[in-house]
Amino acid sequence: MLNEKENLSGGNILELLNQKVLVIDGAMGTMLQENGLKSGECPELWNITHPEIVKKIHTSYLEAGADIILTNTFGANGVKLMKMKQQHQLKEINRQAVKLAREAVDSYKKNHPVPVFVAGSVGPTGEILEPLGPLKNSEAYQGYQDQIKEMVSVGFDMIILETFYDLTEIKTALRAVKENCDLPVFASMSFDENLKTIYGITPEKAVEELFEEEADGVGANCGSGPELLYQVLTRMRIITDAPLLVEPNAGIPYLENNKVVYPASPQEMAKYAEKFAQLKVNIIGGCCGTTPEHIKAIAQKIKKTI
Ligand SMILES: [Zn+2]
Repeated sequence: MLNEKENLSGGNILELLNQKVLVIDGAMGTMLQENGLKSGECPELWNITHPEIVKKIHTSYLEAGADIILTNTFGANGVKLMKMKQQHQLKEINRQAVKLAREAVDSYKKNHPVPVFVAGSVGPTGEILEPLGPLKNSEAYQGYQDQIKEMVSVGFDMIILETFYDLTEIKTALRAVKENCDLPVFASMSFDENLKTIYGITPEKAVEELFEEEADGVGANCGSGPELLYQVLTRMRIITDAPLLVEPNAGIPYLENNKVVYPASPQEMAKYAEKFAQLKVNIIGGCCGTTPEHIKAIAQKIKKTI
């Protein structure tokens, strides 16, 4: 049994992954949109302007059965915040994000004596790195380093690099994590219908190179829904016994009356969660379009399966 203090140590999350599948939460961005975030607005700024909504979303995922919740920091690296003209808020956005997630976890644990964890979400810069694009590798590194240092100053359990397409960029982010903290880190890329990222990276290449760069786990998230990611994770599992993560979108979205609709129901996501658990994927959750209802169905299915 893990005690209170040990819960906040990342080392334990890796140990726990040897024993059981952990459920990670679902979407933050699409949930913020449901709560009024406008298109083009900086979602991470809501950590400062709408903290009660961000915390409410964290709490709803914990109550749904998530073992890990992700901070609202996906786009809070220095390069992306500069593009959103929010670079002066980098420190406050990242610190506040971790505080909100920690507060949600602390209140939840008062009534639920189970280990639950906070993972720091780190996403891509949204710029193309050299030699294909204008962003220097050193600038990308600096942007990630600035974000990670602020998050780490508050304290949490692990880092998840999510929705990357470019192997060079995710390796730069991974290096920034490794050189600035001792937390466990998972590195997850986004694959399309060809089972490659838009930069042509295969699941096998991602596994080989990211573990070589000392990721503690590798995975796939976002993209085209659970069936496609099942194929990706199957290929990853063939070549490694190391920890894997999956967070599929709730299917491929379409527009209906000017609203983006994600077609996969909680039951369909839960059916795939069972298949992922059988594949021995270690962390299972959802990405865009998933809600606390999806995570609840996933958690119930997984806790029955294992
Ligand atoms: Zn997504």
